[in-house]
Amino acid sequence: MAVERTLSIIKPDATRRNLTGKINAKFEDGGLRIVAQKRVQLSQAQAEQFYGVHRERPFFKDLVSFMISGPVVLQVLEGENAIARNREIMGATNPANAAEGTIRKEFAESIEANSVHGSDAPETAAQEIAFFFAGIELVG
Ligand code: UDP
Repeated sequence: MAVERTLSIIKPDATRRNLTGKINAKFEDGGLRIVAQKRVQLSQAQAEQFYGVHRERPFFKDLVSFMISGPVVLQVLEGENAIARNREIMGATNPANAAEGTIRKEFAESIEANSVHGSDAPETAAQEIAFFFAGIELVG
């Protein structure tokens, strides 16, 4: 196992309901360290670029609208196997399929408004972290 870093986003449905602290407790209790964190309002261009891989998918336009509907909390999480570990803590994309105790099972409103984003592989984690953070902002 290796120490990794992964990009996390607490999405607008969760910031709207004041769930940042409860979600952060899931990360920390799950063995991850929050090594960077900032609350921002994404622009449409930033949301479109971030989710560019989904540009041709039917849900893309709605997803971008949702992601700019309120503030998000951008985070870098660090720990052993952090990318896969975070995906476990988050739960399945569709909350109907998410395991008990996961963030999405407890907090997600729908398959779109599913409370958190987490990188899915080392390459995307590196790209996504660099998209939102400068190296000086990451403090382990
Ligand atoms: N999404 C959606 N409808 C779908 C599938 C995905 O609105 O049918 C949204 C949802 O917010 C999801 C994001 O698009 O988190 C990215 O989808 P992906 O398949 O990459 O899921 P994730 O990696 O976030 O679990």
